[in-house]
Amino acid sequence: MAHVPRHEFVPRWEQPYSYENRPLSIGQGQTISQPYIVAAMTQMLRPRPDMRVLEIGTGCGYQAAVLAECMADVWTVERIPELAEAAAARLKRLGYANVHVKTADGALGWPEHAPYDGILVTAAASEIPVALVDQLDQGGRMVIPVGVGRYEQVLTLVSRNEDGEVSEERGLPVAFVPLITAKKP
Ligand code: SAH
Repeated sequence: MAHVPRHEFVPRWEQPYSYENRPLSIGQGQTISQPYIVAAMTQMLRPRPDMRVLEIGTGCGYQAAVLAECMADVWTVERIPELAEAAAARLKRLGYANVHVKTADGALGWPEHAPYDGILVTAAASEIPVALVDQLDQGGRMVIPVGVGRYEQVLTLVSRNEDGEVSEERGLPVAFVPLITAKKP
């Protein structure tokens, strides 16, 4: 995380606070998590240098850059085209050639590159999208805030074991913007 220039990812008026442990506005009514949560979610994936990871909710691209620092390839999906385009340009300018951005409904995942060793969802889902579970490889881990309403969300770890069985573990309480999808889980 010390390699990632967080001030480059936020609007000018948020830059003075960019190295404080607090969430910041990134425009379009969206926010970037506080660094502690970015770190905790990244750590829950158990990063390894050979891992291929999918992120849902690119936002400004900060979490994608943190993932790209410790994993091989990052595919990231954002529903708001302006955010996706700005993040792609920013990540390219900063030299993150291993991050691939597209505009789409992330509840569908990014099937062309599946399966993934890790999936990180940075918006809160009312239920865990089935498409994402389907795109998780054996031995893979998904971290996703689950819950309706800003104060009822729990960071949930979904793991698929080597036999393909899926299990869930509930962790930290969190407050994310909602995952907006037309797709029923
Ligand atoms: N990880 C981001 C912060 C994400 S904020 C960062 O580091 O900057 C949550 C993001 O999820 C917002 O940009 C929002 O537009 C996006 N989002 C919400 N629903 C989505 C969906 N169904 N598919 C893709 N992105 C979604």
